[in-house]
Amino acid sequence: MKAHDGMYIDGAWRPAEGRDTIDVVNPADEQVIGQVPAGTALDVDTAVRAARAAFPGWAATPPAERAARLAALRDVLVARKDEIAETVTAELGAPLKFSQNVHAGAPIAVAGSYADLAATYSYEEKVGNSTVRQEPVGVVAAITPWNYPLHQIVAKVAPALAAGCTVVLKPAEDTPLVAQLFAEAVHEAGFPAGVFNLVTGLGPVAGQALAEHPGTDMVSFTGSTAVGRRIGALASGALKRVALELGGKSANVILPSADLAKAVNVGVANVMSNSGQTCSAWTRMLVHRDQYDEAVDLAAQAAAKYGDRIGPVVNAKQRDRVRGYIEKGVAEGARLVAGGPEAPREQGYYVAPTVFADVTPDMTIAQEEIFGPVLSILRYEDEDDALRIANGTVYGLAGAVWAGEEAEAVAFALRMDTGQVDINGGRFNPLAPFGGYKQSGVGRELGVHGLTEYLQTKSLQF
Ligand code: NAD
Repeated sequence: MKAHDGMYIDGAWRPAEGRDTIDVVNPADEQVIGQVPAGTALDVDTAVRAARAAFPGWAATPPAERAARLAALRDVLVARKDEIAETVTAELGAPLKFSQNVHAGAPIAVAGSYADLAATYSYEEKVGNSTVRQEPVGVVAAITPWNYPLHQIVAKVAPALAAGCTVVLKPAEDTPLVAQLFAEAVHEAGFPAGVFNLVTGLGPVAGQALAEHPGTDMVSFTGSTAVGRRIGALASGALKRVALELGGKSANVILPSADLAKAVNVGVANVMSNSGQTCSAWTRMLVHRDQYDEAVDLAAQAAAKYGDRIGPVVNAKQRDRVRGYIEKGVAEGARLVAGGPEAPREQGYYVAPTVFADVTPDMTIAQEEIFGPVLSILRYEDEDDALRIANGTVYGLAGAVWAGEEAEAVAFALRMDTGQVDINGGRFNPLAPFGGYKQSGVGRELGVHGLTEYLQTKSLQF
């Protein structure tokens, strides 16, 4: 795995302005696997200037040509799929098969969807005596997290480029290698210089400088609610467009008519996937009181199977944070039925797959995003009670409903304050809008909704 010692700016790898570097650590064995430059405000400024200079040309490029470049990008990602998977496994610790299927597979699907959309989307329509045009917003600052490192990048960069925007990306400091690989792929795909730029670095330094830079027109951020709130305030102060994809505490509501064993098993798998580091994970399982004990037994058995199948969490800080939540759950009176705070292995940032029963809606583990392999199972009395609990957090990103009849699940889903709901398990759809209600964010990613985030509207009257 080759790490670049510079930034990808204006179509070439250039030396960083400063000398500081960031160690990239494999969380499975705690070994340093590479180093990338820690960008400064100067690097960010150079990158924003390059993106600004490239904007008029790229905005004026016919959509069909932009679509052709995105199709070429998808093809490069397909050709380098194994390398992507190996890179994400090395810097995030995800099992290789999961990296191939999800960490490489999902961004390839999303890049492909934007190659298609860029070609077919109608940027102009007639409304009475007006022509209404959709034009690119301008220079986009993209700030991404480590949990699905390439997917989060592609979910911002592909629609921005499809729309005719230019981009400066500041990826997460824990997973910069796959971001460098992505920059190579953009280069290979033949995008004009300056259309896409990469600055690696720390959040409070490079990330902050990018979010504050007056030369950008939009900030698109995915990550913690705390940083998102700060970026939202900065962007609104500067009257820039902002898109925020933040945390979640999604409810998996199992109605009494559901296939209980299936709902519980899929529910546990959903939470353990990617070691629980998924913003849309169904971290609260809601079960009717008459089925509660059976569901808890099934969940404990299911979690035990994940013991040596999940990877570590991303770094020591996250491991300690997740363990802190598990200790808090015990201290607040929840009942551990699988896992616990003890380290399951001596080396690597592992957390045991953990299930809590007897969780009440006011407990910390039922309210705050843990971002680890930890499931809370809550008891409900009737449907109204289930709905109150499901909607009773500050978040509203995703959720699930299970019922014997689809229509029953849909009726419940329509009452949930959340941006996405999986019915009887659901299935990933790269064209479906993804984003949050309430404090889970602002704006949508993926599909046509993700594309229009990067467009602004002009009308001409005749
Ligand atoms: P974070 O919000 O600190 O980091 C996300 C991105 O923002 C990174 O690229 C980071 O460098 C950058 N950043 C950090 N501080 C910044 C600042 N002041 N200005 C501009 N950019 C800044 O998230 P984290 O510390 O990596 O994770 C902490 C928690 O966030 C997790 O435990 C989880 O709850 C949540 N999280 C959510 C998602 C999600 O997909 N919604 C993803 C990752 C983490």
